[in-house]
Amino acid sequence: MSVILAFAEQRNNTFRKTAFEVAGTAARLAGDMGGQAVALVAGADVEGMGPELGKYGVSTVKALSDASFKDYTGESYATAVCEAAKTLDAKVILFPASSMGKDLAPRVAALLGCGMASDCIELKVEDGNLSAKRPLYGGKVHAWVTATTDSFVLTLRPNVFTAEAGSGGDAAVDKLDGPAAVAGGQASLKEILQEASGKIDLTEANIIVAGGRGMKGPENYKFLEELAGLLKGAVGASRAAVDSGWRPHSDQVGQTGKTVSPTLYIACGISGAIQHLAGMSSSKFIVAINKDADAPIFKVSDYGVVGDLFEVIPALIEQAKKL
Ligand code: FAD
Repeated sequence: MSVILAFAEQRNNTFRKTAFEVAGTAARLAGDMGGQAVALVAGADVEGMGPELGKYGVSTVKALSDASFKDYTGESYATAVCEAAKTLDAKVILFPASSMGKDLAPRVAALLGCGMASDCIELKVEDGNLSAKRPLYGGKVHAWVTATTDSFVLTLRPNVFTAEAGSGGDAAVDKLDGPAAVAGGQASLKEILQEASGKIDLTEANIIVAGGRGMKGPENYKFLEELAGLLKGAVGASRAAVDSGWRPHSDQVGQTGKTVSPTLYIACGISGAIQHLAGMSSSKFIVAINKDADAPIFKVSDYGVVGDLFEVIPALIEQAKKL
């Protein structure tokens, strides 16, 4: 029976939301392809985390649980994941298209010598063969791709594939030993610079309130922060705002920033340049606030407010407070 392997990303022994999306997708694919969904979690003391993935349809979890996996390094993780994939004879290996997944998946594909599709937004199985839909040219076109190799590595865009906990029981956890090759890597981790605690990761946020050049200055982002706080969302920015030094690059959405797919994306004072759209056009609902009725952002938005954001955002904050 072919194995569909899901890399369940965790940080500080807590699963990222994408871990459930990837596990749930592996379970659905296993059903469609007649295989078995297996999840893989790597880190220090991670065996105890595994059972939770059973709710997402995965029956078995392989735990690469060792102090040497505490912090992510591409080389050691790739070697270990590759070994596990070979041992399991995994036909499909799924990763999230997160920072870690984007670094890890190509390494694993290269080590396995197999085909890869990144940032997938839809999957389908026909006659037992898996193909993936992925954006090309900054989202201007979409292509359906498949692998001609025995195995297929894919990264899944966060927030696109649903992760709903079902009534399934706990998954069985099986501890794996990391391969010996991991010990002698060429790179070692020096330091992790932690983001401010409590900040919601932009790529995992369900709601994003993003500001562009129309915000006029860094001091005005406090309005967006207040609105995002009330909606339990995150603040994003256009490149114009980042280049002006108003926001850190980690907030940038777009071709040279992050790709996001929240349920709700509120674009404030953002014109809708193609490079910005490349990072957010797969959001489920897009609301644009712009004083220029001809701004291109309105072409992709579900709801548009033509008006001065300095009047519209305080009104939205008032309404959000009432909720
Ligand atoms: P502008 O285009 O200047 O738009 C500001 C908008 O604010 C206008 O539509 C205006 O009507 C509106 N506005 C002004 N005042 C108000 C007000 N009071 N109330 C309401 N609305 C108001 N851009 C990205 O965002 N992300 C990327 O990753 C990215 N990568 C790029 C990569 C390359 C190779 C290149 C060439 C460009 C890239 N860009 C990227 C830049 C992109 O082309 C645009 O320049 C940028 O997105 C514009 O940002 P903006 O919409 O905030 O600013």
